[in-house]
Amino acid sequence: MIKEDLQELLNYLKALVFDIKTNAVIPQKFAADEDFLELDKSLKSIRNATVELSAGNLSYEIQGKGFVIGSLKNLQASLRNITWKTKAIATGDFSQSVHFLGDFSDAFNSMTQKLASSILEMKEAQEHFEMVFHTIPDATLITSMDEGNLIAYNKAFLEISQYTEAEIRDEKINMFNLYISRDQRGLLLEKLRKDGFSQNMEVAFQNKDKEKIIGLISSKIIKIEGEDHILSVIRDITPLKKIEKKLQESEERHRLLADNAADVIWTMDLEGKFTYVSPSVQKLRGYSVDEVLQQSQEELLCPGSLIYMQQGLENAIRSVQNNQPFNVFRGELEQPCKDGSTVWTETTVSGIYNENSEFIGMLGVSRDISERKNMEEEIRKLSVTDKLTQIYNRLKLDETLEEQWNDANKTEIPFSLMIVDIDHFKFVNDTFGHQAGDIVLVELANILEMNVGSVDVVGRWGGEEFLIILPKTDRGSALLLAEKLRMLINEKIFTKVGKITASFGVADYNKDSSPDTIVFRADSALYKAKENGRNRVEYL
Ligand code: GH3
Ligand code: MG
Ligand code: MG
Repeated sequence: MIKEDLQELLNYLKALVFDIKTNAVIPQKFAADEDFLELDKSLKSIRNATVELSAGNLSYEIQGKGFVIGSLKNLQASLRNITWKTKAIATGDFSQSVHFLGDFSDAFNSMTQKLASSILEMKEAQEHFEMVFHTIPDATLITSMDEGNLIAYNKAFLEISQYTEAEIRDEKINMFNLYISRDQRGLLLEKLRKDGFSQNMEVAFQNKDKEKIIGLISSKIIKIEGEDHILSVIRDITPLKKIEKKLQESEERHRLLADNAADVIWTMDLEGKFTYVSPSVQKLRGYSVDEVLQQSQEELLCPGSLIYMQQGLENAIRSVQNNQPFNVFRGELEQPCKDGSTVWTETTVSGIYNENSEFIGMLGVSRDISERKNMEEEIRKLSVTDKLTQIYNRLKLDETLEEQWNDANKTEIPFSLMIVDIDHFKFVNDTFGHQAGDIVLVELANILEMNVGSVDVVGRWGGEEFLIILPKTDRGSALLLAEKLRMLINEKIFTKVGKITASFGVADYNKDSSPDTIVFRADSALYKAKENGRNRVEYL
C-alpha cells in the first residue's frame, strides 16, 4: 500500500468514527477488500448504536462483533438501570442505588444522596422562612405584581389591618386603601421595576375601622413560579407620627410663647454665641434681633455687669465640668441700649441638655427691671431724706459717718464734722408759731446745703440740729467753713421770723475715737458755744 492510499483510508475511518453526521463514501481502492468491509460494517454498527443510545433509545438492538460491541451492550444495560432508578428517585424514593460500571455508579449514588439531603434542607429552609414570615413584628405580605392579588400575609398584617383571615382571603391589595392615592402605588411599582426594590417609602392607608395608619413600606420583587411578585414589609409608625406631631406642636407653642413674651428669651451655645433671641429685645434695647445676634459680649453688657455675668457663668460651667448640674445663674445686669442709655434686667440662665444629658448650651430669660430699679432708687432716696427740709436724714448721716470713719482709718486722712443748732428756737416757735419755725428749718437747711462743698454731706440730725460731714477735711478748714455758715445765717432775713442765729460745735477725726465719740466731741463743743454766749463756733 502506498502512502497516499493509507492517508485516504485513515481519513475515511476518522470521518466514520468521529463525525457521525458525515455519510462517508468507501474509498474505491478498498471497495472489494473483505477484511476492510467487515471492519466497516462493525464501525457502522457502533456508530448507529451510539446515535440511538444518545437519542435515548435504550432498547435498540446492537449487532456486531468483538469487545467494543460487548462494552456498548453493558453501557446500554446500565443506562436502562439508571433510567429506571431515576424515575424512582423523581417520585421521592432516594433509597435506590445502582451497582454497575464502578466509578459511574458511585458518582450516581452520591448524587442521589446529595439530592436527598438538599431536598431536606430545602424543606427546612421553607419552614424556616414561613416561621420568620409569620413571627416578624412588622406587617409582611406578598402580592402579585400586576393585579395586586394578596398571595400571603402574616399575623402582624392582620393586626394592623384589623381584618380577619376570612375577610381578606383572595382579595386584592387595593381593598385596604393601602396607598393614599393610585399615584403612590404607581410610584412604588415604578421604583420596583427600575431597581428591583424600594426602601422606607411613607404610605398612609386605612384599616377596617377606617383609622388612618401611617407605615414605612419596604418592598422587593421576588419570583414565584416564574412570575414577578412583591414582598413588602410595613412598619407601623402611626404612634411615632403622633408623638412627632405633638412634639412639633409643643415646639411651635414654645416658639410662639418665646416670640411673644415681654421678657427677652434667648439661647446661647457653648462658645457664647446667641442661637436665638426673642423679638422683645427690640423693645428692651432698641436693637433688632439681627443686630443683637451679631453683638459681642462687650456690646451686650455694661462693664460692671459683664464681669459679674462672666463670673456667674464660669461658676455654672465649672460645676457642669465637675459632673454637677448647671448652677442656675440669676443676677441684675445693666445693658446698653441703641439710644446710648442703659437698661437694667434681671437675667436668669439655666443649662440646656440634649437627650444624652450632655450640656450643650444655655437658656436665658432677661426681664426689664428699670421700673423696679427706679422705684428702689426712689424708696432709697425717701429712706435717707428728711421729709420737712428735703436734705439727708439721720439714717444717711449715720451711714456716712461710718463710711468716713472707716475710710479715715484706712487712709489716715482725717475728716471733720460740725453740729449746727439754732439758738433759742423754742422762743421762735413760741413767738411766731410752729409753722413759721418749720419754714426757718427749711430755709436754714437750704443755706447749709448751698454753701458746703460737693462732697460734703449735710443732714438733719434731729429737731433744730443739723450735722455736716466734711470728708478729707482737717479741723482748720472745718472751722473756717463753720464760721462762714454762721455768718450767712446771721445775715439772713428768715421769712416771718426775721433774724436768727445758730451755734456750731466742730470736731475732727481722731485715731482713737469711734464715730460716736467724734459726734460726742462735736456735741460737747456745741454745748461750749451755747455756754459762751451762742452765735459762735467752738471745737473739741
Ligand atoms: P438753745 O439756744 O439752747 O438751743 O435753745 P432752744 O430753744 O433752741 O433749745 P431747746 O432744745 O430747748 O428747744 C428746741 C426746740 O425746737 C423745741 C422744739 O419745739 C423745737 N423743734 C424741734 N423740732 C422742730 C420742728 O420740726 N419744727 C418746729 N417748728 N420746731 C421744732
Ligand atoms: Mg437743740
Ligand atoms: Mg437750739
